[in-house]
Amino acid sequence: MRELENRVALVTGGGSGIGRAIAQRFAAQGAQVLIVGRKEGPLQETAAADEKISYVVGDVTKTETIEQLIAAVQERYKGRLDILVNNAGWCPVQPITELTIQDYDKAFSLDVRALVEVTIHALPLIRACKGTILNLSSVGATHRAPNLSMYVGAKAAVENFTRVWAMELARDGVRVNAIAPGAIRTNIWNVTDLSPEAAKAHEEGIAAGIPFGRFGRPEEVANLAAFLVSDEASYVSGAIFAVDGAQGAS
Ligand code: NAD
Repeated sequence: MRELENRVALVTGGGSGIGRAIAQRFAAQGAQVLIVGRKEGPLQETAAADEKISYVVGDVTKTETIEQLIAAVQERYKGRLDILVNNAGWCPVQPITELTIQDYDKAFSLDVRALVEVTIHALPLIRACKGTILNLSSVGATHRAPNLSMYVGAKAAVENFTRVWAMELARDGVRVNAIAPGAIRTNIWNVTDLSPEAAKAHEEGIAAGIPFGRFGRPEEVANLAAFLVSDEASYVSGAIFAVDGAQGAS
């Protein structure tokens, strides 16, 4: 399975969870993969799996990091960029009664603003390769839940960006899709602002609503990501795909 041979991919937030699984899966299928995250240790761990994975340490909410990423693509891959995966994300878990404007700023600066800015900077390279963009949404964008207003609002924006960009870029041969995962077992579940007891109750409540009766694995998202960025998905664009154990089926 070397469908991504000779492709170059940029995956934001590749140091853990879904981003790590996607980066390692793409590399296993032959791609050169550049990942970015704020801490070197997790990036090193991802890259240790495959010599085709390299990294840049930085915060994608900062323009200077995005410029470093594009410079790294120029230097390491002669400016070739076939695949952009906008994966880095954060999920504040707060009812509006407790939410601060800092929660809003943090969620929207990463989940929305950084996704837009990375895309704007990467687009000239992606268009030159007739490449593809894959955004990470969430089942929450269409199946809302209490305490997640900032997150589901941000992901609803991501889904609409995906559809509009797909229309705008179709004649350039650039496909744009999104994956909307359900509950996937990653660090995102460990970094909420809730107390441990409230976080456990929140998690159990979500698991109870999943027809499969379990959380998903990052690799189960990476499997679909690898298909969507490959030539096998050559007529697939502007679409949002669930990987959610039927959570969003109702
Ligand atoms: P995760 O916390 O393991 O991964 C998020 C990654 O983004 C981390 O590696 C983190 O270091 C990185 N990151 C955060 N802020 C950053 C910044 N400013 N600059 C650079 N990197 C940054 O969680 P995950 O579950 O793997 O999340 C990946 C994507 O999947 C996110 O967009 C998330 O919203 C989405 N998602 C996850 C779930 C789930 O249940 N895990 C469900 C729906 C959607």
